[in-house]
Amino acid sequence: METDDSLKKYREKRDFRRTSEPQGEKEKSSAQPMFVIQKHDASRLHYDFRLEVDGVLKSWAVPKGVSTDPRERRLAVPTEDHPLEYGDFEGVIPKGEYGAGTVLVWDTGLYKNLRGEKKGDGASMKKSLEDGKIEIWLEGKKIQGGYALIRTGDDRWLLIKKKDEAADSRRNPTSTEPKSVLSGRTLEEIASEESGKE
Ligand code: MN
Repeated sequence: METDDSLKKYREKRDFRRTSEPQGEKEKSSAQPMFVIQKHDASRLHYDFRLEVDGVLKSWAVPKGVSTDPRERRLAVPTEDHPLEYGDFEGVIPKGEYGAGTVLVWDTGLYKNLRGEKKGDGASMKKSLEDGKIEIWLEGKKIQGGYALIRTGDDRWLLIKKKDEAADSRRNPTSTEPKSVLSGRTLEEIASEESGKE
């Protein structure tokens, strides 16, 4: 099954007896695909940008997170596919495990494939991934509107806000809106609550 293959790398990196991250068993899901941006306080703080495509979450690590300013080009480094259930994972990955550190759901919502709607230049998300040219419309709580994800080299993409009504060069949501959209918690609160459980 394609989904299993696609998650092989994800599973190989993790010891599910130790980490509370999901193994990935759920099939799917709603008519419109979802996206999630997770803030991850690992060895280096970064944001993980994930898009649901064909039953898995296609993933990029974005060191500076998502901007609302069309002049900003945010580096996005591809990482392994994650299971759909990862979309609402929040918690602490234990020391010694892959990606050890605290994870918070910074934003999530549904998205649309803008290239899928275009006449002539129409493309599925699968084709967009192959092309290295993704154009999407995000409907999150913090992040909305059009974004492009463009491959510019091996393991190197750029995430860029499109010029539309949601573009705003004055907003800086990564610093002004740090909390989880699922639980309202900060990274520190998640870390202390989770360590209290053990
Ligand atoms: Mn990460």
